[in-house]
Amino acid sequence: MGKPMPVVFIGHGNPMNALQDNTYTRGWALIGREVPRPKAVLSISAHWYIPGTSVTSMPAPRTIHDFGGFPPELYQIRYPAPGDQALANRVRDLLAPRPVFRDMNWGLDHGTWAVLRHVFPRADIPVVQLSMDQRMPLADHLEIGRNLAPLRDEGVLIVGSGNITHNLRHAMASYQRGESSTPDWATRFDANVARAAEKHETDLLLRAVADDDGRMAHPTFDHYLPLLYVVGASGAGDTVRFPITGFDLSSLSMRAIVFG
Ligand code: ZN
Repeated sequence: MGKPMPVVFIGHGNPMNALQDNTYTRGWALIGREVPRPKAVLSISAHWYIPGTSVTSMPAPRTIHDFGGFPPELYQIRYPAPGDQALANRVRDLLAPRPVFRDMNWGLDHGTWAVLRHVFPRADIPVVQLSMDQRMPLADHLEIGRNLAPLRDEGVLIVGSGNITHNLRHAMASYQRGESSTPDWATRFDANVARAAEKHETDLLLRAVADDDGRMAHPTFDHYLPLLYVVGASGAGDTVRFPITGFDLSSLSMRAIVFG
C-alpha cells in the first residue's frame, strides 16, 4: 500500500477569495499541485452545520451561493465537480452505526467551492460533502474524523474548511474602523491551536474553545469544528506543515494545515 493521502484544513475566510488572486488563494492552488491527485474529495465545511449527519449523494451537486451582499460575479460562479455515490455510501458504512442521511438537496456550499475552485480549478475530481451535526459534543466530531481515516488509503482527500479564529462581529467592526492589527487573543488562540494540532494534543483542541480566548475566537463553533475532523483523520506518523498563515480582516486566521 502506498502512502496515505494527506488531510488538509483550510481557512477559507471571505467568500470573495473565490474570485480573487491573493496570497491565500495562491497558497490553496499550490496545495492542489503538491498533493497526489485524489480519486475524490470529502469536504467538511463550516457552512453545513445542521441537526444531523448527512452526506451529499447526488450525481451532480449544485453550487450553493450561501451568502448575501456580494457582487454579482460571485453568484455566477459554478463549480461543476461531479458527486460520488460510492464514496457517499462508503462514508455511511464507515460511520455506522451512527445514522448518516443520504442527502439529495444540499450540494457544494462556499466553504467547499470557494476553496476547491483554486485547489482543483478543473472541477474534474468528484466532491462529496459531509455535514456537521450541531447537536453533537465536540469529541464526537473528532471521533467521526477518526472513523474517516481509512479513506486516506483509498485515494480520498479529506478537506476541512473553516477558520482557526472566526469572530465575524470583531472582523467586520475592525474592517469598518479601518483597523488591521491583529488582537492578542487571536494571535494566541491561533498559535496554541496550531501547536496542539501539530502535536496531536486532542484534549487541548477540545478544551480550547472554552476559555476566554476561545470564546472570543469562536462565538459559535461552526468554523472550528472542521479542524477536529481533520485532526481526527490524521495520525501520529503524519508530518505537519502550515503552508498558509496570517490574518485577514484583523482577526480572521487564514492558517492552512496539511497532515501527511
Ligand atoms: Zn465561512
